[in-house]
Amino acid sequence: MNFYDEEIKKLVQKDNFRQIHNIEEKYDKYLTVNGQKMINFSSNDYLNLSTNRTLIDNFLTKYKNTNEFIFSSASSRLLTGTSRVYKQLENNIANLFKKEACLLFNTGYQCNLGVVSSLVNRDDVVFSDKLNHASIIDGMKLGTSEFYRYKHFDYENLEELLQKHRKNYKKAIIISESVFSMDGDIANIKKLVELKKKYDCLLMIDEAHAFGIFGNNLTGICEKENLLDDIDIITATLGKSFASMGAFCVSSKTIINYLVNKTNSFIFSTALPPSNIIWSNFLIEENFNLAKEKSQKLQNLINNAHKYLKDNTTTQIIPVIIGDNSKTINIAEELQAKGFFVLPVRPPTVPINTSRLRLSLTADITFEEFKSIIDTVNEVLK
Ligand code: PLP
Repeated sequence: MNFYDEEIKKLVQKDNFRQIHNIEEKYDKYLTVNGQKMINFSSNDYLNLSTNRTLIDNFLTKYKNTNEFIFSSASSRLLTGTSRVYKQLENNIANLFKKEACLLFNTGYQCNLGVVSSLVNRDDVVFSDKLNHASIIDGMKLGTSEFYRYKHFDYENLEELLQKHRKNYKKAIIISESVFSMDGDIANIKKLVELKKKYDCLLMIDEAHAFGIFGNNLTGICEKENLLDDIDIITATLGKSFASMGAFCVSSKTIINYLVNKTNSFIFSTALPPSNIIWSNFLIEENFNLAKEKSQKLQNLINNAHKYLKDNTTTQIIPVIIGDNSKTINIAEELQAKGFFVLPVRPPTVPINTSRLRLSLTADITFEEFKSIIDTVNEVLK
């Protein structure tokens, strides 16, 4: 047996082998697998905009005959891959965040990978929350700076690390997600701002799971907590609430100019297709009110859901931690059989022995549907 067969066998033995699902149809809050239609409780399409037929039809009617409605940029942004619509989208996003400048990336993964690996160098250091997304971890591994990972949300641990190590490096950057993707808990951004000021660091926040949901301009938690001015770099994806593809970094003009010149994942990759950029603009510029309406609907569901759960969290992501891999798989399958599409999340996506169901709420799910999945989870767990 060769190395790869062995590795697969080990994954299967640990109930940790992943397979790509055969999803037959996705529409609004529903999804069909093997002929069974279920409510999708595993979606990042938080505002249920991605399959909205009216939006798609309006978009096509308006843009399909325009010159820029094409499906390839056929070039990197620095060659011939930038046209008016890219700048328009970057300006729209920078204005929403009230930041000087914005730079688009092809995905959130490429954005974090590139930004983290290029912003700090050999004489520098990163302090990163232990549960930060793989794209941030991979960025630290790819870069040449030293990095330290503080215990999740343990800001005393972060301060100990800052006290001990900050002085040994030139530049330093603290990195955290705002809403954590697998736990749905929210970082204490105010504390992070305090520490970044005290220890002369840059502060970078990934708003992937908050952009489109929180704050008056829907930019996320930093805006909601009135802290935007104190955050040096914000990244987020367009592939979740804003139902598109791509991602961005907002910051000062200087930092964005630096990234344009130094970030390989930006420089050496074909830009997103113009048709996709026009769709993102269509959602952000022309249909912002619809997004706000949907986010309000989602907020109401989130509030009612957490009242029902009697917990202290306030986001659309609700983890049900089971621990064991095979038990988590079995419970997910039982829930699927009962009409709720829930997936088991296992290591390395989450720490060992914390396998879980990750329930995500989307705008069009009703409170009754939410109650019904929670009651079913409780029954299955008995
Ligand atoms: N950052 C976080 C916190 C995420 O959860 C994700 C998830 O996909 C990403 C970045 C990557 O974004 P994208 O899917 O656009 O690559």
